[in-house]
Amino acid sequence: MRTIKDLNIDNKKVLIRVDFNVPMKDGKIVDDTRIVGALPTIQYALDHNAKVILMSHLGRVKEEADLAKNDIAPVAESLGKLLGKKVTFVNATRGPELEDAINAMNDGDVLLMQNTRYEDLDGKKESGNDPELGAYWASLCDAYVNDAFGTIHRAHASNVGVPTNMKENSAFGFLIEKELNALSILNDPERPFIVILGGAKVADKIGVIENLVTKADKILIGGGMAFTFLKAEGYNVGKSLVDEENIDFCKKVLKDYADKIVLPVDTAVTNEFTNDEEYRVKDINDLAEDEMGLDIGPKTMEIFENTIKNAKSVIWNGPLGVYEFEKYKKHTDDLLQYIVDNNVKTVLGGGDIVAAAGVAGLKDKVYHASTGGGATLEYLEGKELPGIVAIQ
Ligand code: AMP
Repeated sequence: MRTIKDLNIDNKKVLIRVDFNVPMKDGKIVDDTRIVGALPTIQYALDHNAKVILMSHLGRVKEEADLAKNDIAPVAESLGKLLGKKVTFVNATRGPELEDAINAMNDGDVLLMQNTRYEDLDGKKESGNDPELGAYWASLCDAYVNDAFGTIHRAHASNVGVPTNMKENSAFGFLIEKELNALSILNDPERPFIVILGGAKVADKIGVIENLVTKADKILIGGGMAFTFLKAEGYNVGKSLVDEENIDFCKKVLKDYADKIVLPVDTAVTNEFTNDEEYRVKDINDLAEDEMGLDIGPKTMEIFENTIKNAKSVIWNGPLGVYEFEKYKKHTDDLLQYIVDNNVKTVLGGGDIVAAAGVAGLKDKVYHASTGGGATLEYLEGKELPGIVAIQ
C-alpha cells in the first residue's frame, strides 16, 4: 500500500483529499471528530514543509440553495485552531482566485478550498468524476494524498479523477491506511475467523453474506436478519421482521454452509415494536403468532461468547437487537463488552454497530471500529473500490 510516507513531499504542493463532511447546524460545526481525525496526515505533511492544499465534500449540492448550507468555510477556522496556525480559506473550487492563492503559498502553509461538491451544481462534475475537473485539480499540485475513507467506494473527481492523472505521485493518508490494514484481516484471516452479522434486513447484507460465508469459520447471525433465516429453517417467527423475498436465499445459504451458520436459540419477545412494554425470553421454537423477537436471548449469548472465545479474528457488522430501545440493546452491549474484556481481535464493520459501540463507550477499546458506512459494507462485500484502485 502506497502511503504519504512513500511520497517525496518536502517543500512540495500536496493536495490532500480529507473527509471534512462534518455535521453542521446554522453554520456551526456540531462535531469536529472528522477534522481531528485528519490531523495526523496534515501534520505529517507540515512536518515535511509541504504546502498543504486541502479539499473535501460537505453535504450534497443539488440546487443553488444548497450552496450556503454547505459552505465549508467554518472548517478552516476550526482546523486553524486545532493546528495552531492560520488556514487560508479560498471560496472557490477553480479559477484565478484559487490558483493565485496556491501560487502565493509558502512552505508549511495550509489552504482549504471550497466544498468540492460546489462543482455538482453545474453538471455533477465532482460526483460524476468529470475528467476535465480531475485533470485540473491534479494540475494544481505536485503530489496527491487521499485520506477520505467514507467516499472510497465512489468514483468522484476528487478521489479518483485526481490520482488517475498523477499515478506515481498519489498515495493514501494515515486514516485510510489504518482502515485498509484493519479490514485486510479478511484477505488472510488468522483462524478461527468468526463473523457476527446483525441488523435489520437480509436484503441489505446479501453481498456481505455471500462474500464472508466463504471465508469465515463460523457466521453468528442475530438481529432482525436472524428471523428470515429462522423462518427459512421452518420456525414460526410470529410478527418478527421477515424479509420474505430472501427466504430462498437463506435456505440456500443454510443448505450450502450448514456447518458454518449459527442462529439464535432464544430471543427477547414482545407484542409491539416499542420500548414501553415488558418482554419475555422465549426459546426460538416457542414464539406465538403475535410475538416478535427484538433481541437475542441469554442462551444464544452464551453460544456466541463460546464461539468467539477462541477466535483469532472477528468481523462484526450490525447490532444483535433493536439497540435504539434500551431494553433490546442488552446483548449487543454485552457482547461488545465481552470482546473488550477478552481482547478478541475484532473489527466493527461500520454503521450501526460502530454507533452502538460509541454509545456504550467501547468504540476506542475494540481493535478497530471502521468508520466507512457504505464504504466498509462494500469492502466486506469483496468489491473493488474505485478510490483504492485509482491509487494502487
Ligand atoms: P443495519 O443498518 O442493517 O445494520 O440495521 C440496523 C438496524 O437493525 C437497527 O436500526 C436495529 O434497530 C435493527 N434491528 C436489529 N435487530 C432487530 C430486530 N430483531 N427486529 C427489528 N429490527 C432490528
